[in-house]
Amino acid sequence: MRITNPKILAIDDTPENLMLLGAIAKNLDWQMTFATSGPEALEFVEHKIPDLILLDIMMPIMDGFEVLKRLKASEKTKDIPVIFITAKTDPITIVKVFEQGAQDHIPKPFNKTELVARVEGHLREKALKTELNLKVALLEAANSRLDQMASIDALTNLQNRRSIFASLSEAIANSKRYETSLCIMMLDIDHFKAVNDTYGHQRGDEVLVEIAKVISNNIREVDRAGRYGGEEFLVIFPSTGLEGAFQAAEKIRSTVESLQWAEPDLKTAISGGLAIYTGQKELEFVGAADENLYKAKESGRNKIVGP
Ligand code: GH3
Ligand code: MG
Ligand code: MG
Repeated sequence: MRITNPKILAIDDTPENLMLLGAIAKNLDWQMTFATSGPEALEFVEHKIPDLILLDIMMPIMDGFEVLKRLKASEKTKDIPVIFITAKTDPITIVKVFEQGAQDHIPKPFNKTELVARVEGHLREKALKTELNLKVALLEAANSRLDQMASIDALTNLQNRRSIFASLSEAIANSKRYETSLCIMMLDIDHFKAVNDTYGHQRGDEVLVEIAKVISNNIREVDRAGRYGGEEFLVIFPSTGLEGAFQAAEKIRSTVESLQWAEPDLKTAISGGLAIYTGQKELEFVGAADENLYKAKESGRNKIVGP
């Protein structure tokens, strides 16, 4: 792991020092650029990011520490490894060099072989860091895709049971916190067994998918819909009173009723039970909606029953 043809920027106010570095680089694959002052170097890195910087400390106009500080202050340049090459070798300076975020300190006059070894070491480290960052980014992307897959029902593309319950807990917490109304609907397809029995399970699946689409197409962005069981769905209407929930539920019901299928005899309908949150436990809340769904079924189906 190594950067080939590494771009190295050397900054020193003494041209002889830069020439010496240039001579060393001649025998290597380093692509050298030179700057004789801090401002010149900072201007350069604005449009060309080097892989590594060799930096002198004592320079007129702007010293090496100031250059380093400005490099660290910019998102674009903060990760470029900086090596100080300097005649200042007192412990206070050396401590400061590392404290300010430089990678290394090489005293002048330097030994050529040692300088090359150190620069190469830091280039390897940088390449490893870059590779590691890339891998972390890929892993994070894969993880969020997995998270998404784990929360979606494969057939209907709605949230799965686990995920819709998580959304329900969140909606309840928000309703308590912001003192907003919260309604839910339990929805069940009417006589769905007959659809399967008459047209086959495969066709039943297709009907299920279409009805799921009707649900998602008739709720707001903030509402949540999930597959609760086989042909049962739970819809969450945050910040919604009973009247609003009724309207949405009725829209879903009437749309399902008016769906036209390729088979002239195929008719679809749903029943829905609504509940409004009154501070009860989560399962009791869902139970209240379920009871109203049962009432809808009992009283003839293809209808919405609320509290
Ligand atoms: P009701 O109006 O009382 O709800 O009658 P129903 O026939 O819809 O209810 P029942 O609970 O008797 O039957 C539900 C049927 O839904 C039975 C089951 O095979 C079917 N079902 C459940 N999940 C799926 C699925 O993923 N695909 C298909 N094709 N059918 C399913
Ligand atoms: Mg049913
Ligand atoms: Mg059912």
